[in-house]
Amino acid sequence: CLQKHYSVYLPTASVVICFHNEEFNALFRTVSSVINLTPSHFLEEVILVDDMSEFDDLKEKLEHHLEKFRGKIKLIRNEKREGLIRARMIGASRASGDVLVFLDSHCEVNRVWLEPLLYAINKDPKIVVCPMIDVINEITLEYIPSPIVRGTFDWDLQFKWDNVFSYEINRPEGPAKLIRSPAMAGGIFAIYRHYFNEIGQYDKGMNLWGGENLELSLRIWMCGGQLFINLCSRVGHITKKHTERKSAVMNAITHNYLRLVHVWLDEYKEEVFLRRPGLKFMTYGNISERVALRKRLGCKSFQWYLETVFPELELSMESRLKEKKSF
Ligand code: UDP
Ligand code: MN
Repeated sequence: CLQKHYSVYLPTASVVICFHNEEFNALFRTVSSVINLTPSHFLEEVILVDDMSEFDDLKEKLEHHLEKFRGKIKLIRNEKREGLIRARMIGASRASGDVLVFLDSHCEVNRVWLEPLLYAINKDPKIVVCPMIDVINEITLEYIPSPIVRGTFDWDLQFKWDNVFSYEINRPEGPAKLIRSPAMAGGIFAIYRHYFNEIGQYDKGMNLWGGENLELSLRIWMCGGQLFINLCSRVGHITKKHTERKSAVMNAITHNYLRLVHVWLDEYKEEVFLRRPGLKFMTYGNISERVALRKRLGCKSFQWYLETVFPELELSMESRLKEKKSF
């Protein structure tokens, strides 16, 4: 990766960072690393979206400290808590760079982090690309490089990191820089701004946090795009050991999962209900807009996704028997 030289004629980026009650230092570390390690001709702006934080030091103190980056930072304050998903859409709607780069508010970008992402998108605007996500220890703040992994999930719709097959990395033409990923973790990725709008941004019926990463991953793959991890781009993320999530977030996760299940999983939604029968009878709001979007974009079936992108996701015994019978 260090030998690679990138053209100065790459698209520009708007970096969108949403935060809710973030530690001041973590947020500041995120912003300063972006400003310091991104060539300014690629960086259109950094858009900070304060999702109704309550912490005092995120008010005037933050504005005071951001002054030194004058010109590059836009700060938007939500008047009510929108949740990560709608907050990102608010940030994106104010962006003017060619590419949107979403970052969590507790990251540290590494050297030459942005160029590989822009380079991939410049080749094909329907490529959505994630960096390698390194771990920053929550207590010591030590930066620990991650092994090569790809994003997947199980039938509980839990996101997981998974091993990458050696043939994905060792190509006849040399080691690959981009590896296909069935899903993204969600916190950090780059997408061409027009493409983000064209494929329907996010589902604005999703609340607070959770599930949007899988929904977007499925939408990208099923509707003509591709999702990759670029091994030459690295961004550190403070990975918190999940302290108990509040019940509001737990409810949002269930609500969001149900929306994605009903819009994208076709008959395979039964796999999810098999494991969590209670979900089958729960409400999930109106999804007609998202169903219409899927139709309008002419997206492929979930079966196509399973066969082509993620054949390792195993079906339950029941479905395999059914498949055999119909065969
Ligand atoms: N966030 C937000 N509004 C919310 C919840 C989260 O703006 O209602 C922000 C949060 O500050 C962080 C990002 O969304 O920058 C992702 O959340 P988090 O880091 O908790 O997710 P994780 O990394 O644990 O998946
Ligand atoms: Mn995070």
